[in-house]
Amino acid sequence: MSHQPGKLDAPAREPILGGPASVVETACPLDCPDACSLAVTVRHGKVITIDGSRKNPVTDGYICAKVRKFGERIYGPDRLLHPAVRKGRKGDGRFGRVTWDEAIERVASRFEAAKARHGGASILPFSYGGSNGLLTQDNIDAQLWRRFGTSRLARTVCAAPTGAANMALYGKMASITYQDYPEAKLIILWGVNPSASGIHLVPFVREAQKRGATLVVIDPRTTALARSADVHLAVQPGTDVVVALAIHRYLFTSGHADESFLRAHTNGADRLRERAEPWTFERAAETAGIDAAALARIAELYASSSPALIRCGWGLERNRNGGNAAMAVLALPAVAGKFGVRGGGYSMSNSASWNIDRTWIDAPEPDTRLVNMNHLGRALTEYDDPPVDVLFVYNCNPAATIPDQRRVIRGLEREDLFTVVFEQVMTDTALYADVLLPATTFLEGYDFAKAYGPINLDLGRPVVEPAGEARSNADVFGELCSRLGLRRGDEPTGELDLMLQVLDRLPDSIANDLRGGTLPTPPFGTAPIQFVDVFPNTPDRKVDLFPADLEASAPMGLYRFQPDPGTDRYPLALISPASDRTISSTLGELPRPDVKLTMHPADAEARGLADNDRVRVYNELAEVQCTLKVAPAIRQGTVSLPKGIWRRSTHNNATGTALVPDTLTDLGGGACFNDARVEVASLPNA
Ligand code: SF4
Repeated sequence: MSHQPGKLDAPAREPILGGPASVVETACPLDCPDACSLAVTVRHGKVITIDGSRKNPVTDGYICAKVRKFGERIYGPDRLLHPAVRKGRKGDGRFGRVTWDEAIERVASRFEAAKARHGGASILPFSYGGSNGLLTQDNIDAQLWRRFGTSRLARTVCAAPTGAANMALYGKMASITYQDYPEAKLIILWGVNPSASGIHLVPFVREAQKRGATLVVIDPRTTALARSADVHLAVQPGTDVVVALAIHRYLFTSGHADESFLRAHTNGADRLRERAEPWTFERAAETAGIDAAALARIAELYASSSPALIRCGWGLERNRNGGNAAMAVLALPAVAGKFGVRGGGYSMSNSASWNIDRTWIDAPEPDTRLVNMNHLGRALTEYDDPPVDVLFVYNCNPAATIPDQRRVIRGLEREDLFTVVFEQVMTDTALYADVLLPATTFLEGYDFAKAYGPINLDLGRPVVEPAGEARSNADVFGELCSRLGLRRGDEPTGELDLMLQVLDRLPDSIANDLRGGTLPTPPFGTAPIQFVDVFPNTPDRKVDLFPADLEASAPMGLYRFQPDPGTDRYPLALISPASDRTISSTLGELPRPDVKLTMHPADAEARGLADNDRVRVYNELAEVQCTLKVAPAIRQGTVSLPKGIWRRSTHNNATGTALVPDTLTDLGGGACFNDARVEVASLPNA
């Protein structure tokens, strides 16, 4: 395949549009389902405003308030502008400027020394979704790690249990996209709050409601959409699996299971039926702390409505039962026979829908140690065969986001650990770096923005020049490959070359549309009907309702429930849902109103607490000090702190992750954020 002549074949970086004010089109590759098309106003080489464009019909000219503020990151006081090395104690933030050559040499020589001493696996690359772009992750970086033989990283902090369930059941079949929501007569939003994450879904849900659709929300909080729902189930965190199993039981026992669909398109329905059998409405409702009649109403609505759509979110996966919860929820449309009509079936991550094979990673995966990223604290403080001698962090901020924060920080404080942080701003993790490398933002370089809500793919381009000496991932990982003798002469040098190589490796139809500045369309269209346009990508093209390998790997088998980890001492479930301030932890450096712990009035009264009290939230792992917000918008027995906050956002430099155990989900090795159990007490007001 070769690319077509066009503007992207320019031999050097495209000129930056200047003048009094220009509007430059690009796309948002951040970790959000929507991948908006953007219109960025630039004046004298600086970003002035960021807004949505109409190129992508789902974006429809508007974007979230988070990215509208992205200029504050580019030009803010926390931006890293040049390479630097540590001058003070780990964590105290004292660094001295060095040149890029010095920084690269220092990193490369530590890589070589670590490999000579304890082998390549003593180097741990650590990254997540700071950008979902095809250039910034799993590209030259993966090539470097594979060729050097470092430890491998299981990127499981989010979407691992739902991903494992979706893969096992459906082979990650493309799912219902936003555009088809208005076709549904029943929408169940399960463990998802699009008003905070994936805002472009909201108008489509509202349109469905206008057309008469029934809305069900299953969430421990009364979110904006829950307020307008016909039924809201505020379930105890970690119990979604039994709620879904009770619906299965009803379908099987009341004659609403679609037996002909099950025979023709599924395997394992009998085993699922057996596992659902114990979960009567009453038993499930008691376990989940909900009203049995409301649960029965949802089951009846689901059985009798068509098209019926379930949006499976990520809130339900963040606990010890998360994988089985996703299995049970995603199995519902197969058992009830809800596929085959527009707006019927399930909707979740469409990240795999383009079937993009990353052939540009030209190196086989080595058989080196696999480190689950949720065990970073253990890896840094306990692993000794080999120990982690070098940690290279990019596209993420583990000091703020990974469970058991205190252990992670203890690890980062190790004097014998050499830590490299390649970042845009001075994050909580960057403070612990031995070498700091400044990274470009998505408005300063090329990338491919791939949506995972709608099915769309767009090319992002540089809007302004990089601030200071910031460099792209392509430049820095390419440079490290060269310095370590791992780069072949014919491989791309620099970001523009790499972008052109990725374009060359994409299917012609996709690449040509991107070169021409239009949005490509996958072969099955951007709004496929499940079991009409797309089918399971499983070996026999059937839905595997009871995959044997998952039954063997789950601690208690499939569709089983592990009881609540709460104790008399720590009875409250702490959850950490997405907020309207950060994209995961990105933008956590920006000033924000006081971060508050939300608590139900009955829980506050039982503890003698009042709105705006200063409180300590604690368990055996740690303590977080913050301000209390008393509100009925959360179920009794559950409290919440926002996801993605940085240490500076609380009164004692600890975030909610300090209270989260590093236990793993039943499937997929995911993080159990919502298994934190805590108590709350007052602190004297400062
Ligand atoms: S974070 Fe999401 S909603 Fe905001 S601009 Fe990016 S893609 Fe759009």
